Amino acid sequence: MKTVAFVAATTVGQALTKGVCPICEILKDFQWTLSESTQPKADLRVCNFHVWALARSRGKISRSTPGETVTEVFLELLESPLIGKANSAECALCHKVLAEEVARLRELAERFQSAMFVQWMTTQGTLCLDHAPKLKEFVPLRLRPSIDKIVERNRTELKAELQVFREQLRHGAHEGGGILGRVAEFLVGQRGL
Ligand SMILES: [Zn+2]
Ligand SMILES: [Zn+2]
Repeated sequence: MKTVAFVAATTVGQALTKGVCPICEILKDFQWTLSESTQPKADLRVCNFHVWALARSRGKISRSTPGETVTEVFLELLESPLIGKANSAECALCHKVLAEEVARLRELAERFQSAMFVQWMTTQGTLCLDHAPKLKEFVPLRLRPSIDKIVERNRTELKAELQVFREQLRHGAHEGGGILGRVAEFLVGQRGL
């Protein structure tokens, strides 16, 4: 029997070492495991974003199973009577992403109970402008200012890097464009495409 293990490939611990918002990193990875775990059902409802995410996952994942799952999902969708496109609130996959986001925010918030971890996050950690306020909801009031500190340090660092990049562009050097992706992630978070 095939086990439907629904475990994200990235843990909070691993994501923290990547120098990016750990929740964004996890969700980016999680989007790809969704195509594997999605059950083909005629009444499956998915939003625009996730129809495209499913279609793209087919080309990117080399193992055959997700591709087969997506094919089954699409066949079911084609065979079902037209029920109109689903919005994010009705989308089965958006629901799973949201549940994962909440679970991982809780996990990250628990780590804030350690003073050493708070110290590390304030001096070296990264959080995006989308997940910082969400994380605040899960930590005790007294720890909320440290989340603001993390975000402000990130903002200052990115601004400095972007200014250096702009200078470089003016001199015709185009290397280091990865900064643009990191700024985008900081501003709006990741949806994982
Ligand atoms: Zn984030
Ligand atoms: Zn969706």
